[in-house]
Amino acid sequence: MRFFFRTFLLLIAGNLALQAQVKRPFALVIHGGAGAITKENTAPEKERGARAGLEKALQAGYAVLEKGGTSLDAVEAAVRVLEDDPNFNAGVGAVLTAEGTAELDSAIMDGRTLGAGSVAGLRHIKNPVSLARRVMEKSPHVMLIGEGAEAFAKTQGLTFVENATFITPARLEAWKRAKGKAQPGNPKGTVGAVALDQAGNLAAATSTGGMMMKKWGRVGDAPIIGIGTYADNATCAVSCTGWGEFFIRTVVAHDIAAQMAYAGTPLTKAAIQTLDKVKALGGDGGLIALDAKGTITMPFNTSGMFRAFKKSDGTQGVSLFRND
Ligand code: ASP
Repeated sequence: MRFFFRTFLLLIAGNLALQAQVKRPFALVIHGGAGAITKENTAPEKERGARAGLEKALQAGYAVLEKGGTSLDAVEAAVRVLEDDPNFNAGVGAVLTAEGTAELDSAIMDGRTLGAGSVAGLRHIKNPVSLARRVMEKSPHVMLIGEGAEAFAKTQGLTFVENATFITPARLEAWKRAKGKAQPGNPKGTVGAVALDQAGNLAAATSTGGMMMKKWGRVGDAPIIGIGTYADNATCAVSCTGWGEFFIRTVVAHDIAAQMAYAGTPLTKAAIQTLDKVKALGGDGGLIALDAKGTITMPFNTSGMFRAFKKSDGTQGVSLFRND
C-alpha cells in the first residue's frame, strides 16, 4: 500500500514539474500606423527607419514578456519606444494641428482588471502612454484632457518637454504644404501594442498625434476606451489606427470583443467584420488584435500598415506594405 502511495505522490510531483516547464504562450504585436503606404511612395531611408523602429519597439516589449513581466509593462515599453521615434505619428514626429502644434492622445487598458487610463490633447508630456497608465493606476478617473491632464502629470513627476520637441522638420514641411490647400487631405498614423503575458493576461495601448490639420481640440479614436484601445482577458486586446471619426462611429475595438463574447466569433473573423463596417461608412485604417490563446490578427484596408509581431513559439515578423 505504502509503495503505491509513494508512486502516486511521485507521479503527481513529476506532472507538476512538467507543467511548470511548459510555459504558457506569450506574444506581442505592435503597429506604427496604417495609411497610403506603398513600397513605391516610401523613400528607402523612411523604410529603413520604420523597420528599425518597429524592431526596436518589438524587442523592448518582448524582453519584458520573456522575463515573465506583465503585458501592461510590455505594451507601455513598446509604445514608449515608438513615441520617441520620429518615424511615427506619436510623441516626437506627431502630425501637426491647423495651428502648427502637436496635440497628443493615448490610452492603455489592462485585460485582467478592465482598468483603463486615457489622455487627450497633451502638449508637453514626453511619453503620453505613461501618463495614461498613471491615470489608470493613480487617479480615480479614466480619461483626462488638456491642461487638467498635464496638471495631474505634474503631481506624478512625469517628464515635460517643449511642444517644439515633438515637431520634426518633415512634419513641419508637410504642414506647410498642406496649409495652402483647401482640402489638405488627412495624413495620419498612430502607434500601438497588444500583448499576452505568461500569466495569461492581455493588455493594449495606443498613442497618436491624431490627424494632420485637426482643429478645435479634435480627438480621435485612439484614446477612447472601447474604440481605439481595448483589452479584456475574456476576449481580446485591440489597438487601432486609421480615420478616427469612422472608428468612433463603429465602436471598433469593443465591437470585436462583443462579437467574440456574444456570438463566439473567432478573433480574426470578428476583426475583419468590424473593419468592413468602417469601410462601409467610408473610413479606412487597420488594427492589431490578440486573444488569450495567442491568436494574432493585423487586418487593414489601406494600402499599408506598419506592423510587427513576436510570439513565444519563435515566430516573428516586421511588415510595412500589403504583400510584405
Ligand atoms: N486614429 C488616429 C486618429 O484618428 C489616426 C491614425 O491612426 O491614423 O486620431
